[in-house]
Amino acid sequence: MPTETGRHFLAIPGPTVIPERVSRAMNRSMVNIYEGPLIDLTHGLFPDLKKIAKTEGDCLMYISNGHGAWDAALFNTISAGDKVLVLESGRFAAGWGVMAEQMGAVVETIPCSTRQGVDPHAVETRLRADTSHEIKAILVVQIDTATGVWNDIEAIGKAIKAVSHPALYMVDCIACFGCVPYDMDAWGVDVTIAACQKGLMTPPGLGFVFANDKAMARRNENGCLSVYWDWLPRADPDMYYKLFCGTAPVNHLFGLREALNMIDEEGLDAVYARHSRLARGVRAAVAQWGEGGPLELNIANPAARSDAVTTILTGDIDAQVLRRLCEDQLSLTLGLGIGLDFNAAFRIGHMGHVNEPMILGTLGTVELALAKMNAPYAPGGVDAAIKAMA
Ligand SMILES: *Cc1c(COP(=O)(O)O)cnc(C)c1O
Repeated sequence: MPTETGRHFLAIPGPTVIPERVSRAMNRSMVNIYEGPLIDLTHGLFPDLKKIAKTEGDCLMYISNGHGAWDAALFNTISAGDKVLVLESGRFAAGWGVMAEQMGAVVETIPCSTRQGVDPHAVETRLRADTSHEIKAILVVQIDTATGVWNDIEAIGKAIKAVSHPALYMVDCIACFGCVPYDMDAWGVDVTIAACQKGLMTPPGLGFVFANDKAMARRNENGCLSVYWDWLPRADPDMYYKLFCGTAPVNHLFGLREALNMIDEEGLDAVYARHSRLARGVRAAVAQWGEGGPLELNIANPAARSDAVTTILTGDIDAQVLRRLCEDQLSLTLGLGIGLDFNAAFRIGHMGHVNEPMILGTLGTVELALAKMNAPYAPGGVDAAIKAMA
């Protein structure tokens, strides 16, 4: 039987730990969705979300998970037969590409090993060759939750600009929105995707699309086959009922309001610095363990290791056994190694409502599990983390 004493800690990269303030804000009776305080509260969410995306563009909000937001972005910008360039860096951009393919897009992928990120030069070279501008959209993720890679969205934006390619630049920030710096307008991004259940510390159920004027113009040329995903009614502040194409997600809106208040109180820069500090600790621990065994960070280039999630390769230490042991005996849930060998990888999420005791506790517990398994590792991971975080 799993242990039931103390608090179980969920260290998966989304959904993340919900702050009690957010839970309390959500635990309430229904309110009028047509008039009254909910309307003002909802309108107040948009400027705060746009501040995190750093955009003057529109923000469209959906009752959906991240996949829904992917679909929303594609439905408004892609027509059957359009060519879409997917910049692979793990499972997620590829998954978005699969959705585009089902809509009739012709998907071309720039492949990438699971241990690296997108190479901006390769993007520039491919776009330079596309002299007839067949490519209509470029899909990439900022942080790939499967591999733990942190793609350089600014550098890819510069590569697109360098060849003056007119394709829409579309970025999935679901894993790291509100965890790491992002600058949509300055980096030349046309469409940004986010969701509420990772850095935004709210239970799964809200998806966001940010679209600039160029993307909106594409919507107008393209039309939108779906009423539900259509950006236009959702962008019209006078049509409140259309914001959600029906009933508003009342509790989620109250919860998100509270989560955004918490981010505002801490300050975005402090939030980013906290994620960076905690991630440094996780990486230092893994590096130390790896001194005496097969554990290693999945991402080879230190500059491309993400501050929201870390993917750890375990070699011949059975990652499934490690995860099971943590889950059943040590009150810690670790992330599966998705898109990689389940038996030889696991992930630690360090996004959202996390702090030093949570991360040091996670690392100490992983080290305890390694000890219980008699796995080969160099002790002192927690000590290394403390040094890296101090
Ligand atoms: C979590 C995640 C998704 C998928 O979001 P869902 O809410 O599970 O649909 C997509 N992209 C990235 C980068 C993610 O981290």
